[in-house]
Amino acid sequence: MAKKKYVYFFGNGRAEGRSDMKELLGGKGAGLAEMTNVGLPVPAGFTITTEVCDAYYKNNKKYPSGLKQEVEKNLKRLEKLVNKTLGDPNDPLLVSVRSGAARSMPGMMETILNLGLNDKSVEGLAKKTNNRRFVLDAYRRFITMYGSTAMGVAREKFEEELELIKETRTRVRLGVRTARVFDTDVNEAELTELIPRLKQVFKANTGKDFPQDPLVQLWGAIEAVVGSWMADKAVTYRRVEKINGLKGTAVNIVQMVFGNMGENSGTGVCFTRDPNTGEKIFYGDALMNAQGEDVVAGIRTPIHLGDLKHIMPDVYKQLDKVRAKLEKHNKDMQDIEFTIEEGKLYILQTRSGKRSPNAAFKMAVDMVKEGLITKNEALLRISTQDIERLFYPVIDPKIDLSELKAKLFATGIAAVPGAASGSVVMNAKDAEDWAVKGKNVILVRKETSPEDVGGMHAAKGILTARGGKTSHAAVVARGWGKCCIVGCEDLSIDYHEKTITVGKTVIKEGDEITINGSTGEVFKTALPLIKPEFPQAYKTLMTWADKVRRLKVRTNVDTPYDAENAIRFGAEGIGLCRTEHMFFDTDERRLAIQKMIVAEDVEARKSALEELLPFQKRDFVGIFRAMTGKPVTIRLLDPPLHEFVPHGENEQKHLAQALGLPFHVVKRKIDKLHEANPMLGHRGCRLCITYPEILRMQVSAIMEAACECKKKGIKVFPEIMHPLVIDSKELEILAAMTREVAEDVMKRQGVKVEYLVGTMIEVPRAALLADKIAGVAEFFSFGTNDLTQMTLGMSRDDAGRFLPDYVDEKKSGILKEDPFQSLDMDGVGKLIQTAIALGRAARPKLKIGICGEHGGDPATVEFCHNNGFDYVSCSPFRVPIARLAAAQAALKNAKSLALKKKALKKTSKKKQ
Ligand code: PEP
Ligand code: MG
Repeated sequence: MAKKKYVYFFGNGRAEGRSDMKELLGGKGAGLAEMTNVGLPVPAGFTITTEVCDAYYKNNKKYPSGLKQEVEKNLKRLEKLVNKTLGDPNDPLLVSVRSGAARSMPGMMETILNLGLNDKSVEGLAKKTNNRRFVLDAYRRFITMYGSTAMGVAREKFEEELELIKETRTRVRLGVRTARVFDTDVNEAELTELIPRLKQVFKANTGKDFPQDPLVQLWGAIEAVVGSWMADKAVTYRRVEKINGLKGTAVNIVQMVFGNMGENSGTGVCFTRDPNTGEKIFYGDALMNAQGEDVVAGIRTPIHLGDLKHIMPDVYKQLDKVRAKLEKHNKDMQDIEFTIEEGKLYILQTRSGKRSPNAAFKMAVDMVKEGLITKNEALLRISTQDIERLFYPVIDPKIDLSELKAKLFATGIAAVPGAASGSVVMNAKDAEDWAVKGKNVILVRKETSPEDVGGMHAAKGILTARGGKTSHAAVVARGWGKCCIVGCEDLSIDYHEKTITVGKTVIKEGDEITINGSTGEVFKTALPLIKPEFPQAYKTLMTWADKVRRLKVRTNVDTPYDAENAIRFGAEGIGLCRTEHMFFDTDERRLAIQKMIVAEDVEARKSALEELLPFQKRDFVGIFRAMTGKPVTIRLLDPPLHEFVPHGENEQKHLAQALGLPFHVVKRKIDKLHEANPMLGHRGCRLCITYPEILRMQVSAIMEAACECKKKGIKVFPEIMHPLVIDSKELEILAAMTREVAEDVMKRQGVKVEYLVGTMIEVPRAALLADKIAGVAEFFSFGTNDLTQMTLGMSRDDAGRFLPDYVDEKKSGILKEDPFQSLDMDGVGKLIQTAIALGRAARPKLKIGICGEHGGDPATVEFCHNNGFDYVSCSPFRVPIARLAAAQAALKNAKSLALKKKALKKTSKKKQ
């Protein structure tokens, strides 16, 4: 067997890797290789594959054998190519060591710059560049980065030393009293004083001297990058972003180029289109005399790309050409990192850029119009989260402008559009804690760092005092479509006192504010927010999606109002109308069902049910009307009866009084309803086995409503569904009764309505006996909430207490996802497949759907597509998500079918 290749080289116009090797080389590694191959100015280097990271964790944190030799061989090759040697005291090669997984995780993992500097090479490089200040600046950064990322010393300890020098030396020398002193103001003498202090911090915290051997530095840095894959912040990011199935991070070792060599050097990040609006304009930030980390960390507020055009017109022109080339080559909006070293441009990274949901739709549709991508590619490019995030709120435009003006508190850079209001919190942990308690919070920070990602996710919006549109806060928030304002320099933030001050106004932790990420405005109150209109590009794309998908998408609603709303989201019918919800609507209805429950005999129960019938019928008429021409699945009563009656003594007394019954009678009746395990108790269709009159009333209401509608010309297609069925005989009894009542109503009304009688499949026994049950049922609807609960033996109401331990990648990773949110394909999925195979064998045209919460989960929708479902049904807001997911599933399925066919052809040719 050929030896596995762990390292891929690139440089001098040729690379061993390619852009389609993302899984192996990570996004950055694949991008660097591709850019080298297409002739862009990329510094040379090599990439250690993601398989090394994978092997490292699988093998008790040991690297695969042969890696050391392969890295050192490639280092030699790099040294030869650039004619410099790592650690050379006269003219040293310096490298950056950077992470890069197959999916971009901005700022989550480690980067170490300027590696190769030591006490000797610093002096050599200073002489060679004739710029000692620059070299010392690079050295202080290296000690800080190496100390913090490779050795785990808190970064602040190094930063405190820098601050001390700035305050006690630089400020005094410059004679400034209050204005901010920047890192670039620190001069050579001050840096000379700083470096031994940093080394001291290193030694005090690690017990070791700062390593002078560049190979020790290199392996330390590689270890830090690989180790960062499992750092808390990276694990949290993957959880929040639902990133799984990756091998790990690659490690990129690249020759350093310097943006901090003076005013004709600089560094920046740019996007080939505006990541907020999707507009086709060149967008980005640059910082002169700085290294890359400064832009992303938001340490200084950068200049716009437009300004670079004036400062360095030639470089700008060249960069603009690179922009066009990279976007055309990658057929997507690119996020490009560049460095200018003494007037010469280098491209350090390109990747598909994070974008706001609005921009994602606009770009996808525009790129189709420009002929850059096909409609199908556009559909696959939109993430279902983009849709969800498209509907983030905006400030109600009806608000009086003068009122708005009076509440305006500060203005920053509008980084991610939308609006959010909530209580101010000033650290990420608090944001998470407050959010768990149900509070809406706005996270306010001087700047954010990757450690804050959990709190950023929990917050409704993010506000930072520093940073530009490409700072960490902006990039991460944009990916989530979360409203964000950065660079709000008016804010004076005091973490200790937990206050924000602008002039004389002070906002304290817990005070409510509103931020408008579209304008950059911050208001000192909670303003009313509304959901925005769907943008045109969204409508265009969804029309494309509807043409491609095979699965129908229905909705779970119980009221005419919600039904109308769901139609606007594109629902093609109702997959689940939970009739019990109608009983909670008014006191009158609640009383009527309570009367039925405490009834002493059949006659009393029937008379109570008579009272309920008109309510139900009225609701069904409204729902049928809203869903004209579309199927409506109505489920008969499901919850245990105790859920409808009061359990407190006072409420029971009230009920007794309202019903004209003695209190003790009501109490006894209610006490008798008590069950040790109600979810497995007297509920679902079992209620109608005991009390058939409930079924009779509900079916009458459905069919009377249907007949009434039909007479008025409204097309109705009721599907009557029995919950919690476990056996064909059980369903036979219920179905016979259902049909008898239905026929009777139609006869009385003098109209014929097409209707179906079917069942939920939500108990494992029903899935296993699906062939028998399909003998009776005209349709199956998988109730995956109960089916998950019963298959895993985990209560859907209580599993939240321990499920995180099962899903946590670091704790156990037993399950990949919460099985109540995304279908457990291995277990529940297998049961569903069995039920479908059995059911369709008995009744080939059996209609199959899903109405559990999973119906709106994109991965589950794909499963449903692949397993021959007719429809999925979910809550109205998730209908567009399911429509897109269904289209994507159809496209992916067609692709994999085509690949399979091709492979088959190949093997049959070989055989011939
Ligand atoms: C289910 O169990 O999946 C279902 C849809 O029913 P409910 O959530 O009402 O129990
Ligand atoms: Mg159920």
